[in-house]
Amino acid sequence: MKSEDLSKFEKLVVQKLRDILLTKHGVSVEGAKERVLQEASRFDCPDLNEIAFALHRIEKGVYGQCVICRHEIPSEILEANVTARLCPSCQTAMREKSDTIR
Ligand SMILES: [Zn+2]
Repeated sequence: MKSEDLSKFEKLVVQKLRDILLTKHGVSVEGAKERVLQEASRFDCPDLNEIAFALHRIEKGVYGQCVICRHEIPSEILEANVTARLCPSCQTAMREKSDTIR
């Protein structure tokens, strides 16, 4: 992913983090990413962890890559779900797998 795209998604991800802090934990955070992350680290919340993981991937420059096949995840998917980790084909494969288990 290009660095301007990464910074665009970083904003979206931080915004999502703020939303969850507010709607789920009733905490309103102003200010920079560091401030929001610091606030989020006070909670043991799977949703917040998921987003912290996405931010970590942005910092490493691997955000938007499928964690299984390493292909790029289409940006419309990331825009709809900023914590998406899988490309559509791996997503489908996972779903089919879990359907067989069930
Ligand atoms: Zn994949």
